[in-house]
Amino acid sequence: MIRAVAAKPLERSNTSVDEQLADAGVCGQVHLPTGRTCVQPARHAGGCDFVVRDEVPKRVERHLAAHPAH
Ligand SMILES: [Zn+2]
Repeated sequence: MIRAVAAKPLERSNTSVDEQLADAGVCGQVHLPTGRTCVQPARHAGGCDFVVRDEVPKRVERHLAAHPAH
């Protein structure tokens, strides 16, 4: 019997990517059930840091100020 153990850090079916944020150099993963969005830099290490949509603009600004996109 094969038991598929989901060890993946991201449940793809539950997430999407905000392309505007991705273009801005942000991870931009959206957790669809909650609408929370990851504001870590693109290809960041570790797990996503999901914040509520209201928090996204100021969190993204802070990240981009600290880590300007090349
Ligand atoms: Zn992320």
